[in-house]
Amino acid sequence: MQAFEATNYYFEQAARLLDLTENIRTLLVTPDREVRVEVPIELDSGRIGNFIGYRVQHDNSRGPYKGGLRYHPAVDQDEARSLASLMTWKTAVVDLPFGGAKGGINCDPGKLSRGELERLTRKFIEKIHDTIGPHKDIPAPDMGTDAQVMAWIMNEYAKYAGFAPACVTGKPVEFHGSAGREAATGFGLAIVTREMLARLQRTVAGTTFAIQGYGNVGSHTARFLAQMGGKIVGVSDAYGAVVNREGIDIADLDRHVAVSHKIAGFKGGDTTTNESLLTMAVDVLIPAALGGIFDREMAQAVQASLIVEAANGPTWPDGDEVFVTRGIPVVPDVLANAGGVVVSYFEWVQNLQHFRWPLEQIQREEEKRLVEAFRDICDLAQRRSVSLRTAAFMKAISRVGRAKVLGGI
Ligand code: GLU
Repeated sequence: MQAFEATNYYFEQAARLLDLTENIRTLLVTPDREVRVEVPIELDSGRIGNFIGYRVQHDNSRGPYKGGLRYHPAVDQDEARSLASLMTWKTAVVDLPFGGAKGGINCDPGKLSRGELERLTRKFIEKIHDTIGPHKDIPAPDMGTDAQVMAWIMNEYAKYAGFAPACVTGKPVEFHGSAGREAATGFGLAIVTREMLARLQRTVAGTTFAIQGYGNVGSHTARFLAQMGGKIVGVSDAYGAVVNREGIDIADLDRHVAVSHKIAGFKGGDTTTNESLLTMAVDVLIPAALGGIFDREMAQAVQASLIVEAANGPTWPDGDEVFVTRGIPVVPDVLANAGGVVVSYFEWVQNLQHFRWPLEQIQREEEKRLVEAFRDICDLAQRRSVSLRTAAFMKAISRVGRAKVLGGI
């Protein structure tokens, strides 16, 4: 099964429970536009490097297309399609006036110099500038891209359209970005986890967590959960994992990662494998890396009693079925990691108004939106006796479907 098929499986599961016409169902599944461009740049060696870039615009019934750009060797059309569709549902789950898109460049950013990354980004925008814009399609960071990449995008886009900081979100705070955007996904994750634990009559304090992936999302999630009194007993990245039953000192780990750029070599715990981290005995497991982690076998091996999806698409449908059968609740990606796009929305609004909000306001508003969305979806899940994922998709599909019907074809 491919990623887009998996997303559509979840869509169908929820759509079946809704009163949707076949026509609307077909319209909601098919992406509006798929752009694939060749992005040739001169490498530092003088050779020409030829890369392929994608932008899939899935749906804009509720507002401009919105979603990240990923720089990773696994980026392809199918992945972009699946992630674009997830963005449509995610922005609808948290009721933002956006649609869904996703894109990226097939490359290994770790092997490119800063100059090469800049040339690649600018060339990509040169190729797609007419398909994006503040009221058309607004990119943001995702795996392998960061605030610096967004700054280049804004600057490159301005060459074609003039000053328009709202054309991209996740920019540096000193360059039209928003306070709190970088940590927003991790902050939101911690809030949603706290709410879910409260539903299970538990608190973050006294709960143990394992986090797979220690990039922007994983590391901020760890920090916020630790601040709330949670015990992070395991973390991993692409190169290895570390466990400590007494709780990992996250500030210490962050100092280590700032210098060595990986977890390996960290002295505050015992080394283990990525695989054993996923199956360790822990209360909450948070996948915060690539998609497609939990298939049937892996879902059977998991020992955690709650999964909170920080990554996009970490669970295959057969793994999801196992979690449902085993009674392990899963807080789905479209809700759990929506904090990032919520603050992207605040950044966009600030850019359009040429006004700045303080961090306290951003975090307060982010928390409010996420808590509301979480409660809505939990209540719907209980009322209809469905999983949180199905409830989230139901909520999102009815919002997008309604907008489609009201707008007309
Ligand atoms: N890439 C992030 C996501 O998957 C953020 C998207 C955005 O802010 O537009 O949700």
